[in-house]
Amino acid sequence: MPTEQIEQSAAVPFIDPFGRAITYLRVSVTDRCDLRCVYCMSEDMHFLPKRDLLSLEELDRMCSAFIRRGVRKLRITGGEPLVRRDILQLFRGLSRHLDSGALDELTLTTNGTQLARHAADLAQCGVKRINVSLDTLDPEKFRTITRWGDLRRVMEGLDAAQAAGIAVKINTVALKGVNEEEIPQLIDWAHGRGMDLTLIEVMPLGEIEPGRIDQFLPLSLVRAQLKQRYTLDEIDDRTGGPARYVRLHETGGRLGFITPMTHNFCESCNRVRVTCTGTLYMCLGQEDAADLRTPLRASESDALLEQTIAEAITRKPRGHDFVIDRRRSRPAVGRHMSVTGG
Ligand code: SAM
Ligand code: SF4
Repeated sequence: MPTEQIEQSAAVPFIDPFGRAITYLRVSVTDRCDLRCVYCMSEDMHFLPKRDLLSLEELDRMCSAFIRRGVRKLRITGGEPLVRRDILQLFRGLSRHLDSGALDELTLTTNGTQLARHAADLAQCGVKRINVSLDTLDPEKFRTITRWGDLRRVMEGLDAAQAAGIAVKINTVALKGVNEEEIPQLIDWAHGRGMDLTLIEVMPLGEIEPGRIDQFLPLSLVRAQLKQRYTLDEIDDRTGGPARYVRLHETGGRLGFITPMTHNFCESCNRVRVTCTGTLYMCLGQEDAADLRTPLRASESDALLEQTIAEAITRKPRGHDFVIDRRRSRPAVGRHMSVTGG
């Protein structure tokens, strides 16, 4: 697609029924992962056959169609995006939209295990900020949470990313009785390295283990505990995501809170998600979806694809309603986070 054409049609963005322009796209490029975090995957996951996945070329076409219609920020996620073979090819291709000015930001969410070998190339592709998920600094605990992960590899990945000049934000899922006590240490460590840290409430996605409900730790409680140790200065930084931020007076660093269970962040939602099979979800918390793989494969032109996306956006709901149903002990949405892309 010639650059002028992208810039020209960016004037007609996808707008949902509530007047929200869709400017943020998260794309899961694989359902596979080299870890098995207990809150995200079961130990014996069945992964999708390769033919069901969008090819790298199809992913590029799909992302480019969204960019043409107003998406300014693109986050690549998974599963673990860096375990997808030749994934750098996708980043290289998409970086043309940064060069043309059609895209403001190309970024990714990763567990960090493969970062050491990819960080320099990602920086070359124009990736300036990444999110790295890390719930503990204790190697044993890390192995327990991820079922077999090696913390050293993540640490090497973080070093490589920072050495390549990429800003890192740490994402930490707050888990009752698991890393609850360690949160201040994680904050001091991250801020000491110049990294923001965002705490995430565990969400009821996917049929995993019944114990998950017991892991739920409301961030309102964490926040109250942190207030006894730090001065939390409210700041109005929004990064286009659902996190609310404070600055810690003592460290000077930023701390984010993503609280889908206790705070409804839907009203300003500007995002949609696409899975690695090309299923477009208009809302993380609801089942309604549109198949983009069929129009992608039906024709070489993108007209049908754009039409399918436009029609789907008209069905974007006002918001979601996550509820951990304690009587039935069933998650509100049966998809794994690794399928939708976190
Ligand atoms: N593998 C990459 C990673 O771990 O960063 C990207 C995909 S992962 C699904 C994206 C984010 O979702 C991670 O920060 C992870 O901690 C979070 N996540 C996974 N399952 C979750 C759950 N049930 N509740 C809250 N966050 C979850
Ligand atoms: Fe893999 Fe990320 Fe899920 Fe952990 S949270 S199992 S690293 S996809």
